[in-house]
Amino acid sequence: MDFLKNVSIKIRLWIIMFTMAVLILFVGAIGLNGIAMTNEALDRTYKDSLKPTNIISRIMLLMDENRVHIMLGLQHDPKNHYPKKERSEDSVRIHTAAITNNLGEITILLGEYKKRKLTSEEQDITNLYAIAHTQYANDGLVLAINALKEKDFQKTSEIFLNKINPYYKNANLRANTLLQKIGEIAKNNYREATERFAFIRNILIFGTLLGILFASIAAILLIRSIVRPLNKAVSHFKHISEGNMDENISVSSQDEIGQVLSELAAMQGKLKIMINELDQLARTDELTGAWNRRRFEETVETEMDRLRRYGQRLSLMILDVDHFKKINDLYGHSIGDQVLIDLSNTIRASLRASDSLTRWGGEEFVILCPNTTAEIVSNLAERLRKEISSIKFQEVGNITLSFGVAECGSEETWEQWLHRADEALYLAKSGGRDQVKTIRRTSSRLIEKETTKISGASSDDQVKPVQH
Ligand code: GH3
Ligand code: MG
Ligand code: MG
Repeated sequence: MDFLKNVSIKIRLWIIMFTMAVLILFVGAIGLNGIAMTNEALDRTYKDSLKPTNIISRIMLLMDENRVHIMLGLQHDPKNHYPKKERSEDSVRIHTAAITNNLGEITILLGEYKKRKLTSEEQDITNLYAIAHTQYANDGLVLAINALKEKDFQKTSEIFLNKINPYYKNANLRANTLLQKIGEIAKNNYREATERFAFIRNILIFGTLLGILFASIAAILLIRSIVRPLNKAVSHFKHISEGNMDENISVSSQDEIGQVLSELAAMQGKLKIMINELDQLARTDELTGAWNRRRFEETVETEMDRLRRYGQRLSLMILDVDHFKKINDLYGHSIGDQVLIDLSNTIRASLRASDSLTRWGGEEFVILCPNTTAEIVSNLAERLRKEISSIKFQEVGNITLSFGVAECGSEETWEQWLHRADEALYLAKSGGRDQVKTIRRTSSRLIEKETTKISGASSDDQVKPVQH
């Protein structure tokens, strides 16, 4: 059966079903052949049932012969106008003996006939015949034989005319009726048998066709019930291999394919979780849990699109730890790491759900604030600056941050916008650190707005142009 391995299940099932149909046909053909044989047997039975006809015909012949023998006996009457040459006593005895013989044979034949299984109607007709023949024999033939033996030809002749003839006629009539009845019964039997045969043959043909029909329907249903779910499973596997984990895998059966599908659904669920985790890892900074640049770039593109389409405001701030190198140098890299972790936790706790914190690199972070103006973001930056500068970090104590804020212009590219924020950070650093700088964009020029000084005293809205 190894050669079937490369044949699809659908073809294999069709082969099985086709073989079944051929077998059904084969069985049907054998059945029909059997019926044909039965038919032949019935034909023989019909012929057998005609055998009694032969018996009755023979009886009728003997009856006739007996009558003829009486007539021949009468030929020996000397008063006859055409007397026989030989009128010996023996000549008469030949006829009387023949009649006695015939009567004996008739009795045997009738006995043989009656031994058969007769229908009640046949029985009645047979009885009537037997009575008629007894009358023909006893009241006719036997009396005539006796008269012949006594050479009383006159009496014989009278008996012949008055008894034998009418009794013969009656007995012959009964025998004929019996013959007709036998033929009728045989014909009826044959007709019934033929009808029965036709009925059985039709049932067999119908049964065979029905069997083939059922086999075909069963084949289609079986193939569908196996091949369809298999194709479904294959299609699910294909989707998963293409990376689509969101397809709903419905399990509608408990069979082997149902089990495959349910395992596949479980596998898809696990894969989805793993992929999400991997995705999360791929888009998250390992040390701080903040977004990485990849995640940020995906988001900022969408947000800038919103700005262009719906005019929504969009701002960001870049923040950088002041003199972080010193922290590393003084306390070691792992303490520096801890500072970054604590710092990002503190910042995240202060942000709105729509704001996002991204580790831009080293000790530099970016906060993206959708639907927010530069003014609000610079206020937020100021709040953060104050909050963080007041925190005592483990071992390190106080640290300060410098902030650069910029709002995205509707015609601006991402690079131009980021550059402005960088410029603002540079200003904050060069301005003495621990401060927030915003560079706003007007149609003709860029404007620097200083919101905070190292002293913490706000010099509100002191606007000075910056050459860009
Ligand atoms: P400035 O005030 O001008 O920003 O001075 P700075 O020392 O903070 O800036 P600089 O760019 O000179 O140094 C940044 C340092 O941050 C250098 C690098 O060793 C350190 N750093 C970058 N990434 C990590 C990190 O993941 N962990 C630790 N512990 N240190 C880091
Ligand atoms: Mg720094
Ligand atoms: Mg830096």
